[in-house]
Amino acid sequence: MARERQLSRRSLLGGAAAGAVTLTATTATGTASAATTRDVDVAIVGAGLAGLTAARDLVAAGKSVVVLEARDRVGGRVVGLNLTNGGITEGGGEFIGPTQQRIKALADSLGVETFTTYNAGNNLLYKDGKKTPYATDGILGAVPPIDAAGLANAAIVQATLDDLAKQIPVDVPWTAAKADEWDRQTFETWLRANAVIPSAKFLFDVACTSIFSAEPRELSFLFVLFYIAAAGDASNPGTLERLTETANGAQELRFVGGSQLVPIKLAAALGDRVVLSAPVRTIAKSGGKYVVTADGITVNAKKVVVAVPPPLAARISYDPLLPAARDQLTQRLPMASVGKAIAIYDTPFWRADGLNGQVVSDTGVISSTFDNSPPDASYGALMGFIEADEARKLDAASEAEVRAAVLKDYATYFGEKAASPSSFVLQRWNNEAYTRGGPVSIAAPGVLTQYGPALREPVGGIHWAGTETSTYWMGFMDGAVRSGERVAKEVLAVL
Ligand SMILES: Cc1cc2nc3c(=O)[nH]c(=O)nc-3n(C[C@H](O)[C@H](O)[C@H](O)COP(=O)(O)OP(=O)(O)OC[C@H]3O[C@@H](n4cnc5c(N)ncnc54)[C@H](O)[C@@H]3O)c2cc1C
Repeated sequence: MARERQLSRRSLLGGAAAGAVTLTATTATGTASAATTRDVDVAIVGAGLAGLTAARDLVAAGKSVVVLEARDRVGGRVVGLNLTNGGITEGGGEFIGPTQQRIKALADSLGVETFTTYNAGNNLLYKDGKKTPYATDGILGAVPPIDAAGLANAAIVQATLDDLAKQIPVDVPWTAAKADEWDRQTFETWLRANAVIPSAKFLFDVACTSIFSAEPRELSFLFVLFYIAAAGDASNPGTLERLTETANGAQELRFVGGSQLVPIKLAAALGDRVVLSAPVRTIAKSGGKYVVTADGITVNAKKVVVAVPPPLAARISYDPLLPAARDQLTQRLPMASVGKAIAIYDTPFWRADGLNGQVVSDTGVISSTFDNSPPDASYGALMGFIEADEARKLDAASEAEVRAAVLKDYATYFGEKAASPSSFVLQRWNNEAYTRGGPVSIAAPGVLTQYGPALREPVGGIHWAGTETSTYWMGFMDGAVRSGERVAKEVLAVL
């Protein structure tokens, strides 16, 4: 039992997140060599939102499950970072918005409340060394004040993207009539031909890095259109605006007490079915069953759900080997590159200057920021994304070097006060063993049309989940929950 970690419940961070619980690894007593074995209906790999949702639904249907999680915490790409002032901030998935009904319903069922992302006052455009505040409630939403020709061009490009996205069936994007044509080019190639005014191209470059944490040259145009199509639901076609906006968009709401409360509470309800610090190494078929071997625990299961990002799923050994199409798919869906930097201040001082904390910038390591202060604004928090090329450049930098670069940007945008936070936290996903990038796996040209069908196709009794397998809101917390719900139904149909 020594190496099997169990869930423990303890209060988190006192008053700031009253009522919250956290799950930590506690070392049980016993001999180190005595590995545990469990026999269950379904072994689930990964205690992110997808794996935990699948477990909840399978348990509700009367099945026995075990969820094997590599880290010493649940939540995966959703993590709460403890602040020295007793507060908590998000290092990963944070915002939700309209049409993301599944994550909202899950949070509601667990009693995790939402609040509106701070959006009063002006956004700030920092371009060509100049700061220009602009309103978030214009006729077209929050439109950065670029030149008139650029704005006209950008409006046409945005409408075209939304129109083309309507031609994508979200469950099988590779079957779109023009899938081959669109999957033969990068988003960069398409933008160069369509966003011909430099200021318009700038807006789509920033939108691209903000949405994907990838450069336009890294993405298949078909993948981008699919992602836009997926930003909706069966009655509301996806739009680019829903991806980029705060009000009425994917950044509209946050969770009181931090987003990790959702997976934490979900896992707490599953009790000791969730095993932490148990990275799965092999999944082997033996007779009619599967033997799933993780550090410290072996699970015999009738079915297996793998709920980890595709490149991480590829690091597990499968016996017998997976079909070539499935393995080659996972060789071709790398994680994008992202980090989050959050600076904490005594107050959200930028609000008094009429700013909402949201920046769009053409320079620096941070080109997009948000006001991440708690709902009662008892302290100020500025959150910035470190994205794509900027993230990769800093992968090997020390924390002090990243901090200095980030605070230089914050001071440029919000004034000298921003250079001296009371504390500073950093989450660098490229360097995280069990994620290795984020927010999502991305597809270059040729991947979806050649390998797309292998994304969800079960291999024998092994089923695939995770946000990357979702039809709507792929890449988001909502997509992760949807994938968990879908895979549970899929498994129940064959158990
Ligand atoms: C910086 C950042 C910002 C984001 N912002 C937002 C946002 O604002 N809104 C939003 O909706 N989404 C956002 N996302 C995306 C969102 O967090 C993810 O889409 C979602 O959390 C994915 O959940 P998942 O369960 O599919 O995968 P994951 O959360 O990645 O869960 C997979 C789990 O599997 C574990 N694992 C990996 N390998 C193994 C193994 N071999 N054995 C056992 N366990 C293993 C991992 O440790 C992890 O816990 C963001 C992500 C990042 C990184």
